[in-house]
Amino acid sequence: MDISVKAPAKINLTLDVLHKRPDGYHELEMVMTTIDLADRIDLTEISGGIQLESTSGFIPFDDRNLAYRAAALLQQRFSVKKGVRILIHKEIPVAAGLAGGSSDAAATLKGLNKMWNLGLSTEELAQLGLELGSDVPFCVKGGTAIARGRGEHLTPIAPPPPCWVVLAKPQHGVSTAEVFGALDLAEKRDQPNLDAMVNALEHRDFTGVCANLSNVLEQVTLSTYPQVGKLKERMDTFGAEGVLMSGSGPTVFGLVSRESLARRVVNGLRGFCRQVYAVRMLGGLEAPLLDKIRT
Ligand code: ATP
Repeated sequence: MDISVKAPAKINLTLDVLHKRPDGYHELEMVMTTIDLADRIDLTEISGGIQLESTSGFIPFDDRNLAYRAAALLQQRFSVKKGVRILIHKEIPVAAGLAGGSSDAAATLKGLNKMWNLGLSTEELAQLGLELGSDVPFCVKGGTAIARGRGEHLTPIAPPPPCWVVLAKPQHGVSTAEVFGALDLAEKRDQPNLDAMVNALEHRDFTGVCANLSNVLEQVTLSTYPQVGKLKERMDTFGAEGVLMSGSGPTVFGLVSRESLARRVVNGLRGFCRQVYAVRMLGGLEAPLLDKIRT
């Protein structure tokens, strides 16, 4: 049996770090939403082991790869004797703040659950996913949600109104651990207004969503990588209606209500940033998660 699974990226509409916990993790509160920029994971059953291939040379090809680790976790936990060949068609930029690796892991969990007839619920897959990474539970469920804890306590909320998302990824990647390490929680920072964001989403108020975009990690990443600030300025100048850095960065996204305006912003970034994408917000209008199953 062969299975292809879509692995969509996420962006953060808000991100707040509340405090550092005794277990070393940060207590987070964020609004995350799925966008129509996705990797594709092709899974092929083999007699044993795990083989990994990718169209991108920028990801690890061994047990550091999150998709590989997802397959190994299921094999081990459920004593699966069968193996799998995983082919990752990479579209999501790596180390970009878009949860590419986490989404590959989530898609692999979902695909192998079907391929190996494990009968696990979405909730069980999300719990297993947390063993692989903090963003994996959200990636298993998708949609739009408030994420608390490390990111695993998810409350589904209304999706953003239909719009375009222009993404610009600076050349360098960013280490999430380093950004969190550099965040000084004692320092005063502009905290997101979660209630205002949720309210704007519930009322399908695009202007309200744009006005309440906020990420406490932005200033940290921006102070090391000034290009993030320049990209924000440029998106703003060319007409993006709301602009923010996603996750720990360095990708900057701009929300735009009309396609013609999205084109203008993309053109304005030409020659300034090499990796630019314009995609639709998915939010709640989910694309089918399992594209194809071939038996
Ligand atoms: P997050 O926002 O969840 O921190 P990110 O989008 O910033 O993630 P990723 O693209 O997931 O970053 O990459 C983070 C690290 O994970 C990279 O250093 C990369 O080498 C490693 N990695 C492991 N597996 C994958 C994968 N399948 N795809 C991309 N990166 C992977």
